[in-house]
Parts: sequence; C-alpha cells; structure tokens
Amino acid sequence: MSEFEHILYERPADRVARIVLNRPDARNAQSMRLLHELNDAFDLAAQDDAVSVIILAANGPHFSSGHDLREADAREVVAGHRRVGTWCGFGCDGAEGQMAVEKEMYLGLSERWRNLPKPTIAAVQGKVIAGGLMLVWPCDLIVAAEDASFADNTVSMGVSGAEFFNHPFEVGVRTAKEMLFTSDFFSARDLHRLGMVNHVVPRDELDDVALELASRVAAKPLFALKLAKEAVNAAQDNQGRHNAMQTSFAYHQLCHSHNQQVHGMLIDPGFLARSPVGRKGEIQ
Ligand code: ZN
Repeated sequence: MSEFEHILYERPADRVARIVLNRPDARNAQSMRLLHELNDAFDLAAQDDAVSVIILAANGPHFSSGHDLREADAREVVAGHRRVGTWCGFGCDGAEGQMAVEKEMYLGLSERWRNLPKPTIAAVQGKVIAGGLMLVWPCDLIVAAEDASFADNTVSMGVSGAEFFNHPFEVGVRTAKEMLFTSDFFSARDLHRLGMVNHVVPRDELDDVALELASRVAAKPLFALKLAKEAVNAAQDNQGRHNAMQTSFAYHQLCHSHNQQVHGMLIDPGFLARSPVGRKGEIQ
C-alpha cells in the first residue's frame, strides 16, 4: 500500500490506520530513514479524513532497540530530507550541529507525534529501549504484551536521559529516577500499575486487542476526540511538562558535549562494552 522501506502502512479496519515498524532484523533500531518514514506515515494518517485512530505497532520479537547508533552519516541524511521543524544548521560543527539534528529528529518528532490531532495507540511487545520510549510515550494509549519491558539506559551512556524526557509524567518521579539511575528494565505489569500502560495482554492477543480498542475509539465523533486529547495534553503541559522537557534537553546536549570533549565521542565509550544493544543492533 505504500512505498515505505522501513515501515508498513496499513488500513486494518474502518477509520483505523496502522503503522508498523518493519526492521525486525535490526530490532527496529531507529535509522534516520525509519524516523522520516514514520513521520510521513503519521502525516498520511493525520491528513486522511477517513482515518480517526492510528495504531503504532512493530514486527519482530522486540518493539525497538532505540536509536540506530551505527548510522555514521546521520547529519547528512537529516540535512537532505524535508524539515518538520524550524531549526537550522544540521551540517554545523560541534554542539551546534548535534543539537540541531536531535532537536529536529528526536525531540522534535516525538513532540510532533504527541500532538497529532487524532488518538494514537501503541501496541508493544518485547524490549523497548531508550529511543524506543520516544515512539511509545508520544502515543495516547499503550497496550503491551505480557513480555514487554521498558528501559532508558542513557545514563549508562554518560547522558542524562532520552531526548524526549517524559519520564516523570509517565511513571512518576520515584520510578523515573530509578529507571534513569539503574538502566533496568521495567515490566509491562509494573508500568501498568504505575499508569504508564493501559492494558497488558497475552502476546498472541496484542494485535486484536489494539485493533478492537482502536475501532471502539474510532466510532466516536472525531472532533470530540481531538479536543479531548488536546484538553488532557493541556492539563499535562500546565503541570510544567514543556519547561521540564526543554531543561532536560539542554542537559542532554551538555552531556553529549562533555563526552565529546573528554572521550572524543558523543557517549561514554564504556557503554559499548556494557550495552544490552550490541554494535550490530542485536539485543543480547
Ligand atoms: Zn542525544
């Protein structure tokens, strides 16, 4: 149905679009191409008046291992693609170029998807690591398989947290700190108890439950759905989410600059020896 390479775009039911991450061999690591295609697919669904609800799912055993750390030419890829934000300087040296890329591709896209004017539902299985959270958290509802688990291991990389820093608003401040301090995986059941996950279901029922939920939501008047979403998002933003996000993004960039000065690379090289995500993107 589409010319996408790293994702699938489907219409599984009336008024429902489903976007599927489709790099299972790379554990759905987020190349710049995958992120661009995902953004294009979200736009396609958002601008299609016959679609009311969007499901985000993933092929393979794991939802996403995070950003594709093997992508050496990320800045060139970003510079050559249609912009979605207003920032500039993607080819600049030093922190200026790095911040530009991350502001556009990481914080910018996740925030943009969070504000899409239609309900979105993440259907999640397996591991969701760091950048993977930045695909799941922007969605309005989260349905997780029993085997789903979630981690932000960026502190292990010498960085203060993923670029889309929604942790305190997703799991509360105590668990947000434990998640960041330890890099541990948290189970779908634990995060259901904390309110981050709406439903935990058997793995073989994940697709059906997400689709049934999407169809029930899609039967409601779309304008009321849009405004209900806007109202809840406004309530969250009035709790200081936007300012917290900007502060944490600045710290994140400071960490990259520090690592670049001290280690000659954006992350602490000790991470590569300790990481659950291998150099080839496999989850160990
Ligand atoms: Zn970063």
